[in-house]
Amino acid sequence: MHIALRIILALLEVVYAYLEALIFLILPTRFRKHKSIAGEIALVTGAGSGIGRLMALRLSRLGASLVLWDVSEAGLDETRRIIENDGGPVRSYLCDVSDRQMVYDVAERVRREVGNVTILVNNAGIVNGKWFLETADERLEKTMQVNAVAHFWTVKAFLPSMISNNHGHIVTISSMAGRFALPRLVDYCASKFAATGFHESLQMELELLGKTAVKMTNVQPFFITTGMFTGVETSINPWVQNVMPLLSPDYVADTVVEAILLNKPEVMIPRSMYIMMRLAVLMPKRAMRALEDLMESRDFMAGFVGRELAGRPAPTKRS
Ligand code: NAP
Repeated sequence: MHIALRIILALLEVVYAYLEALIFLILPTRFRKHKSIAGEIALVTGAGSGIGRLMALRLSRLGASLVLWDVSEAGLDETRRIIENDGGPVRSYLCDVSDRQMVYDVAERVRREVGNVTILVNNAGIVNGKWFLETADERLEKTMQVNAVAHFWTVKAFLPSMISNNHGHIVTISSMAGRFALPRLVDYCASKFAATGFHESLQMELELLGKTAVKMTNVQPFFITTGMFTGVETSINPWVQNVMPLLSPDYVADTVVEAILLNKPEVMIPRSMYIMMRLAVLMPKRAMRALEDLMESRDFMAGFVGRELAGRPAPTKRS
């Protein structure tokens, strides 16, 4: 094709994409086509607490059979009990997603006992929240293994059947820390940037393979009040609270599940982060610094205690 024609077609595609994005921005999501996930087999890692538990319950209520993975037996039992009481089919498996062989072995059991996973939610995650030089080597490695490298193993285990059937959905629970860096989160940011890079590159491979019915959704939330980031404070600067509020776990779970139903490739929560993200790409580094100073974002982690010091909060309530 002549280069001039290719340029015109590309520009038309760009204009179309902007118009589509504008319509999606204005149009309430209830007017958009939601896919059915009834009968799908949905696996959620880190389903023993937090948004993993809440997303699992929502997927179950939409008719999916649930497979729960976690390292916490008590957490898994609680999530399984909640879903069973709700009437949904559910199986739970102890699985440390940072252990490659365990992932492959447990995945094989899931295939035998439940069937081919068609929705994979890579949600398990950990955070240290210490200054980089104060974080033990093993903890740095563990963060990368759980938050990023584990995605290699779970996707390798479940993507082949999705590709064979050209049907499936892979969800990456990354973080705003996978787009914007913060101090005291060096290993966490590294792992979440890695998860986002993994996700976006894999998405391109699926497109090149023509497997367009294997959908992918990358989720990048701001801080959520699950307990993982206990002590984080953004209210130092009250207006930041309005632009970037601490997010309720229910809101995040609802948003992620709706994104799955709408086959959204990317979700930033809250929505103001889309603007921040686009602006950040265009800004000189120094201008970005000035905004960070204004928002005092480099102090967000100052009061962090996390789960270990704060103690485990009561399990996230069923909703
Ligand atoms: P959470 O309540 O701590 O849930 C994470 C779950 O993953 C826990 O049940 C945890 O078990 C489990 N887990 C940890 N290591 C694991 C491993 N090696 N294998 C399997 N399961 C493992 O955290 P959350 O706030 O719901 O976070 C869920 C996801 O959202 C994470 O990926 C997190 O990075 C991301 N995120 C969270 C926030 C936030 O502010 N909370 C913001 C943006 C993104 P244990 O409890 O036994 O460790």
